[in-house]
Amino acid sequence: MKMGRIVSIGECMGELSETGSPGTLSMGFAGDTLNTAYYLRQSLGKDWQVDYVSAVGTDGLSDRMVDFLNNEGIGTEHVRRLADKTIGLYYITLKNGERSFTYWRNDSAAKRLASDPAALHLALDGADLAYWSGITLAILSNQDRLTLIEALGQFAGKGGTVVFDPNLRPRLWDNPETMRGWVHRAAAVSDLCLPSFEDEATWFGDADPTATAKRYQAEGARRVIVKNGADDVTFAASSGEVSRFSVPSIEHVVDTTAAGDSFNAGYLASELKGASVQDAVCAGARLAGRVIGARGALVPDAVKPV
Ligand code: ADP
Repeated sequence: MKMGRIVSIGECMGELSETGSPGTLSMGFAGDTLNTAYYLRQSLGKDWQVDYVSAVGTDGLSDRMVDFLNNEGIGTEHVRRLADKTIGLYYITLKNGERSFTYWRNDSAAKRLASDPAALHLALDGADLAYWSGITLAILSNQDRLTLIEALGQFAGKGGTVVFDPNLRPRLWDNPETMRGWVHRAAAVSDLCLPSFEDEATWFGDADPTATAKRYQAEGARRVIVKNGADDVTFAASSGEVSRFSVPSIEHVVDTTAAGDSFNAGYLASELKGASVQDAVCAGARLAGRVIGARGALVPDAVKPV
């Protein structure tokens, strides 16, 4: 059997959260592209390899992250080690059920993940699908943004599938205009674009999910799937035809962290196994539903056999 290979490109961070017991923190790892890699790994069989493409330091904390990825079955061959850097961290404070975040990521190793074009090409070489996001793009220098877009464009030119989630985070960008420009350049090299409507409406002023899908197609994305919380998912096919699919309602939403990331994984895993768009959307929504029904970004038993 031919082995398929997916690369997920981005930043994974250390997550420190309060345990409720004074003086004690718990340590985990998360990040949008890592969350999707985690759920892809859970959803796909042994005939798929899921590799993470990033950069970390050579310190003990970076070792912990690499061990974590390996233990989850995620390939780390293309996680570069930079001697003078370490991983980004964030700290979650819980107050009256509301989560707030403090970040230390401005000088993280992952910001250099595209600084070596040869390493990037090696990571992409022979892969079937490359997954990345607007956060991946946001953390890079302008030069490295260009390097990554060019590498993914070449990968697509050789028949690779590029999948992009815009994951708009204006705080990671100099200004919203810069964010809009780069996100559109990224969409232009992507076969499939997976935006979330609420963010898109806020930052691009789209009137409805169809407007979001049409805008990304006008920028060059071949197909677009617009997520919209509990509302319908909108799909724009390469022909331009638009369909809408309802998502199952969830009785108890516990924590919406990673809703979009897990939807993307459920959708992609299903499509890679040959499912129709409708069935793949259903698989994405089902997985996202289980993830938001539990606490945290990474829910160990979220993927269940149908
Ligand atoms: P993001 O996490 O990127 O903001 P969304 O909030 O649009 O993404 O959610 C992604 C997917 O998660 C939705 O398409 C849907 O399948 C599922 N989802 C999110 N919120 C809900 C909800 N309240 N009820 C049911 N499904 C939800």
